[in-house]
Amino acid sequence: MKLDLSLARKYSRPGPRYTSYPTAPHFGPQVGTAQYLAELGDPQVPVTADFSLYVHLPFCRSRCTFCACNVLITSRRDQIAAYLELLKQEIDLLAERLGSERQVGQLHWGGGTPTYLTAGEIEDLMGHLRSRFAFSEDAEISIEIDPREFTTEQAAVLAETGFNRASCGVQDFALPVQEAINRHQSYELTYHVLESLRSHGIGQINLDLIYGLPYQTEASFSRTLDEVLTLQPDRLAVYSYAYLPHLKKQQQLIDPETLPEPELKLALLSRTIARLTEKGALVYIGMDHFARPDDELALALENGDLQRNFQGYSTRAGLDMYGLGMTSIGQTHNYYIQNHKRLSDYRRSVNAGQLPVERGVRLTAEDHLRRQVIHAVMCRFEIDIPAIEAQHGIDFRRHFARELPNLEPFAADGLLVDDGERIRVTEAGRLFIRNIAMTFDAYLPAERDRPGRSQTTATYSATV
Ligand code: SF4
Repeated sequence: MKLDLSLARKYSRPGPRYTSYPTAPHFGPQVGTAQYLAELGDPQVPVTADFSLYVHLPFCRSRCTFCACNVLITSRRDQIAAYLELLKQEIDLLAERLGSERQVGQLHWGGGTPTYLTAGEIEDLMGHLRSRFAFSEDAEISIEIDPREFTTEQAAVLAETGFNRASCGVQDFALPVQEAINRHQSYELTYHVLESLRSHGIGQINLDLIYGLPYQTEASFSRTLDEVLTLQPDRLAVYSYAYLPHLKKQQQLIDPETLPEPELKLALLSRTIARLTEKGALVYIGMDHFARPDDELALALENGDLQRNFQGYSTRAGLDMYGLGMTSIGQTHNYYIQNHKRLSDYRRSVNAGQLPVERGVRLTAEDHLRRQVIHAVMCRFEIDIPAIEAQHGIDFRRHFARELPNLEPFAADGLLVDDGERIRVTEAGRLFIRNIAMTFDAYLPAERDRPGRSQTTATYSATV
């Protein structure tokens, strides 16, 4: 793929990753526990037979300065134990509402550092989940692992309790980068953790890297890619660094002068795609994901079944998702729902016997339509205009008359082709997929027009 690096500066601007639409900044207090309960109890609302659970475990031992996750730094085990008790109460509240007809098709533990829990705590929490919910036989049960917080005992418990996928953060193996982000994690440590997982039968391994971190160069990141390939991940996420120092205080410890410019970031991504897909080692799924050709994510891409949710690309993103734990986000037919972000609010709500919802958004028919268009861009790299028209009863070109002229610069730069029936993103266009998707986001123009600092700038990371 021949790439014009000057496009990086042209298109680099703050923008969403579209793990949801409307995006999280548009969630508000107009949606709370009452709306969530009404949605869960309404027999008219379509539900998926299987559902997905996300469990948020916010604790970490120390803070990585690049981190944008919702974390609590603690060394107090009693604080973790108290949180786990609250979580179990919330599980009971949700299980009561969902009833026993449906099954868990997907469970993910994220954080924070889920493996900051002891083996005993993992066993106890998973036992509680299994006692309250039925799991489908082929359920995907996954956990985020920090190799710096991992023991063989934990590997054994994860396997015994049914985990079948592990996601390991790496970020970058280069030492200057690790020093700058306060995260020291050697290749050897990562290698041994993966060995331990695989020897216990947890064979599905995802690895996460980040490009756009301080001091990264093309040469250093190439070395990291080579090392990562020797670890033979089934899936590899290579995220663009979300630098938001005005929102994430710890990121203020990162000197902005040490961050790669947009041209270098684009070169890093382009080189990453070339290196990882060389000789068919991995398939480029889109935006930030790669998978082995026989992985179900790659097969879903081929079959047009790929979807997107809060965990990025997924084959099971069509399932209703229920969040558990502080800050977690769920998705039902009509709503996005987010739990309280402060531990004290979460605790108060659960102790009062309430599902601890802080905010959310109810999707309008227009939101449903635009979400489908945006996800078609992000997951299938094309908009099938007759299909969208048939499903939503609209004249696509008339409905999006204001937006379509904004696609012309992408077409002129060879990033997409509009043949009348289909709007298709080209190979080079995949590197600017967020920009193309933003064209159909009805909320962004309103944000840009707001006086003072634009909320777009304040909330989203750079697209390139
Ligand atoms: S990157 Fe992971 S380990 Fe580091 S602070 Fe964030 S959640 Fe914790």
